[in-house]
Amino acid sequence: MQIGILALQGAVRPHEVKLQKLGVSTIQVKRTDDLKKITGLILPGGESSAMIHLLKLDGLWDAVKQFVQIQPSWGLCAGAILLAHEVESPSQESFQALDIGVIRNAYGRQTESFIAPLNPAPQCKIQESVEGVFIRAPKIKRFGEKVRPLFNLNHEPVMVQSGHTLASTFHPELSDGSILHQYFVNLCQEFH
Ligand code: GLN
Repeated sequence: MQIGILALQGAVRPHEVKLQKLGVSTIQVKRTDDLKKITGLILPGGESSAMIHLLKLDGLWDAVKQFVQIQPSWGLCAGAILLAHEVESPSQESFQALDIGVIRNAYGRQTESFIAPLNPAPQCKIQESVEGVFIRAPKIKRFGEKVRPLFNLNHEPVMVQSGHTLASTFHPELSDGSILHQYFVNLCQEFH
C-alpha cells in the first residue's frame, strides 16, 4: 500500500518522514498518473489559494476532486480548506468532499499562530490529548450530521471525520509522535 502526498506546494516533507517511520511507503503526487498508485491522499498545509491555482495549472483539479470523493483523504489546514463544502473569508472554490464549512485565517495572522493541547471528542478512538500546532489556521464553522468531531479546542472541532475523509485545522506533522498519522494509515488499510 502507498500513501500519496499532494506535492504542489506546502508542508510535504514532514508527512513523508512520519509515514516512512511508520513503515508506509509514500509518493509525491504531482501528476494525475500518481493517483493510480496510491490508496490514500494527504492534502498538506500551505496556502490553499496557491494550491487551487497549481491544481488547475497542472491539470490535476478534476482527478484529485474525483479521488477525494471515493478514496481515503486527509486534508490539513489548507488541505482541509480544499476538502470543505463551503469556504469563506474570502470564499473560494473547493472539492466539496467533506460536509463542513470553514472560515480561512480565523485565528488571525501568522503572528497569532499558536500551540495548544487538544482534547479527544468522546467518540474518538484515540483517548489521549495531542498537541495542536495552528498556523494561520481555519475554523470549522459548521459540520454536517455525518461528520464526527475527533479533537476539539475550546469545545470547537479542529479535527473531524466523515467515512474515509479526515480534516484537521492544525499540523500534527510538526509535533512529536505519529498517533494521528497512524490513524490515517489504519483508515487506508481498512480501505485497501
Ligand atoms: N491560511 C492558509 C489558507 O488559507 C492555511 C494555512 C496553513 O495551511 N497552515 O490556505
